[in-house]
Amino acid sequence: ENERLRLPPWLKTTIPTGKNFSKIKDQLRELKLSTVCEEARCPNIGECWGGGKHGTQTATIMLMGDTCTRGCRFCSVKTARSPPPLDPNEPENTAKAIASWGLDYIVLTSVDRDDLPDGGSVHIAKTVKEIKTRNPKIFVECLVPDFRGDFSCVETIATSGLDVYAHNIETVEKLTPYVRDRRAHYRQTLKVLAHAKKHNPNLITKTSIMLGLGETDQEIEQTMKDLREVGVDCLTLGQYMQPTKKHLKVIEYVTPEKFKNWEEEGNKLGFLYTASGPLVRSSYKAGEFFITSILK
Ligand code: SF4
Ligand code: SF4
Repeated sequence: ENERLRLPPWLKTTIPTGKNFSKIKDQLRELKLSTVCEEARCPNIGECWGGGKHGTQTATIMLMGDTCTRGCRFCSVKTARSPPPLDPNEPENTAKAIASWGLDYIVLTSVDRDDLPDGGSVHIAKTVKEIKTRNPKIFVECLVPDFRGDFSCVETIATSGLDVYAHNIETVEKLTPYVRDRRAHYRQTLKVLAHAKKHNPNLITKTSIMLGLGETDQEIEQTMKDLREVGVDCLTLGQYMQPTKKHLKVIEYVTPEKFKNWEEEGNKLGFLYTASGPLVRSSYKAGEFFITSILK
């Protein structure tokens, strides 16, 4: 057992607790909306909610409850075989709150619901439709499960009216069985991303890789190539952080310079954008990147 690595200086961030943060929190309480951004105390909240140069605000909402049917070894979301049933009012209530918040870009994410025949795809699609009906100008990204490779679920999402279809590959092929839940497969993720694009070619597809789990540079490069091969448009790369002692250990803290190199590599391979940095998460400034790299 090796010791836990020391946290390098570039990861010592200040968790937002100031006045602005509490102001936004109060607003959200009124809207009865809980965001991943504040629940995970994401260090990017200032940048995402504050909007970038274009004032484009991004936030992330978690749908379908707080209990997942899977148990990925990097993730601290709680697990159960049959989580509580879905709240049938969630799509409408979420949409109302988001529309009155006046955001530019919303990321809808969710737990995996392998207990439901449609994996929750209809529920997610309904949420997208409700949001777009109330505010057609808001951009919607869905970060969705693999639906066990069930293409009909993928199609339900792909034709819901969303702008960006995101599904995370998380790690390189070799480490997949060790990092992700045993029902998640590297090739299945590639197939799902390819199918979403094929079914609705207007979609932007997106994925994310965590670094620092023991992958080699050559394996990262291969993963990036595999993703481009199935037409994935956007890529984010960030540092894996161990959520609790029970989760996978960090093998390496990748330097900011190295993340910068991966960004350049991504640009060379032809991704519409590659967001790469120690603190980058899959929804990091997603609205800002969308406006500047895709709508330009
Ligand atoms: Fe929210 Fe994602 Fe931005 Fe973090 S990176 S503040 S979770 S939108
Ligand atoms: Fe966490 Fe998603 Fe894995 Fe569920 S499927 S354990 S929410 S990473």
